[in-house]
Order: sequence, then C-alpha cells, then structure tokens
Amino acid sequence: MTDDAFPDDEREAPTVSCERCGREWRLDREVEEIPPGGHAVEQFALDHERHTGHYPDDVSPWTARCERCPAGERFLAERPARRWAETHARHTRHAVRLEPPSGDSEVVSPGDDADRS
Ligand SMILES: [Zn+2]
Ligand SMILES: [Zn+2]
Repeated sequence: MTDDAFPDDEREAPTVSCERCGREWRLDREVEEIPPGGHAVEQFALDHERHTGHYPDDVSPWTARCERCPAGERFLAERPARRWAETHARHTRHAVRLEPPSGDSEVVSPGDDADRS
C-alpha cells in the first residue's frame, strides 16, 4: 500500500484511518462479524473508541445521556441515538439529553410521545 495513491478498488472494502493512531484499516479483514443491518465502519468506530478512548477520523458520535440516571449511549448516527433516547424516556419517564456531533443539544422528554399507550 502506498501513501500517495488511492486504489481504484476502494469501494470493495471501506477503509478507516485514525490520525491519532497513525494507522489505517481495511474493514473487510478487520471486522468479520457484522450484525445484520450493521455497518462495518460504525462497528469498527465503536470498537476503536472502546479500546482507545477516541474515534477514528471522520467519525462524529451522537451522545444520548440520561439526565436522571447514569444511563447513556453513544451512536454514530442520529436515528439510533434518537430512538434510544425516546425509548429510555418512555420506559423510565426520564428526560434524556441528545447531543449531536456539533451544534446544540436537545432534550428528549418523556411527554414527547403523544400516543403513549
Ligand atoms: Zn485511533
Ligand atoms: Zn434514566
């Protein structure tokens, strides 16, 4: 692999680089067990954060953090983060703070879901 040329077959396998680690990974070999509907890059990024405490390049996490209890999760997309926040809020009646990668955070409150059964 050379540093100054992009491979033509780049779409075959996504690559992730991490400036802090000074490394680059090709995900078809590094990540072998992807859950159904999961994305290799997301899986890798979460795993990388778990091991090193930081995310690879071009990965910006969404953070859902409960304001009342220690529950909290990080996600790599808005939809799962929002779903987690809404679910936690509905089940526990807790307000959950949803923090996007940049910009203002918002609070998902238990009462947001109008048709709660
Ligand atoms: Zn790293
Ligand atoms: Zn909570």
